[in-house]
Amino acid sequence: MSTAKIRFQGVQKSFGDQVLFDGFDLDIQDQEIVTLIGPSGSGKSTLLRMLMTLENINGGEIYVDGEPLWQQQHSGNQTSVDQPHLRHMRSKMGMVFQHFNLFPHMTVLRNIAEAPMRVLGKSRHQAYTEAEQLLAQVGLAEKGDAFPADLSGGQKQRVGIARTLAMQPSVLLLDEITSALDPELVDEVLDVIRQLAKTQRYTMLLVTHEMYFAREISDRVCFLEQGKIVEEGTPEALFNNPSEPRTQSFLASFLRG
Ligand code: ADP
Ligand code: MG
Repeated sequence: MSTAKIRFQGVQKSFGDQVLFDGFDLDIQDQEIVTLIGPSGSGKSTLLRMLMTLENINGGEIYVDGEPLWQQQHSGNQTSVDQPHLRHMRSKMGMVFQHFNLFPHMTVLRNIAEAPMRVLGKSRHQAYTEAEQLLAQVGLAEKGDAFPADLSGGQKQRVGIARTLAMQPSVLLLDEITSALDPELVDEVLDVIRQLAKTQRYTMLLVTHEMYFAREISDRVCFLEQGKIVEEGTPEALFNNPSEPRTQSFLASFLRG
């Protein structure tokens, strides 16, 4: 039996007394590209943040490569999270956020090379060589010595992507990575993701409001509302022929907007 790359199984998640996920299930296969769409507040970011271990869960389990994210460690009657295991699981995931949060006092190259040196223990030479390759990959080979303030929003986000890739994740989590950008800068960022999807073997879970992009890049699209998957399918099925009235009205509101 093959193991899903990512498995949400009966996941429970509440904020205070607001129950957001009440037994959420989703399997994502290795190298599958899955897009989450849905109204604001439906839980898209929380799903990515739970996978990234930025949010804990209140019940159920999340598995990556068949292993639970939050493995417990038992000693006597004390239970705690096994921290080395958690670091190992986190290292599989790379997330790109809406806001790029580059270090303003570091050059672009150092922004990319810093974590591989500190966290992965790479030599300076190796980290900078790889950072240069990644910068070329996102089309910014000439910007290595620039500072973030010298870059456009689209360029900053491309550096953000390179910085995430430098940590060699196998899962990429992309949360509305173009929503903070001026419209004319959106495509240069989406092009980087298109290229990655074509040439590399990442498993991707992304949230986007760029429907044409979701249609083009995804193996599967899930429409989420109030913490539940209302409908999922291939982009063709979901966008051309949605069967649920909720999906239809959500997509119609997008066409109007
Ligand atoms: P989406 O990304 O689909 O817009 P979110 O996952 O950000 O939705 O949020 C889903 C719901 O959970 C919202 O009602 C939001 O207010 C709530 N929520 C998310 N994060 C927190 C938090 N840290 N504290 C309290 N409520 C939160
Ligand atoms: Mg969100």
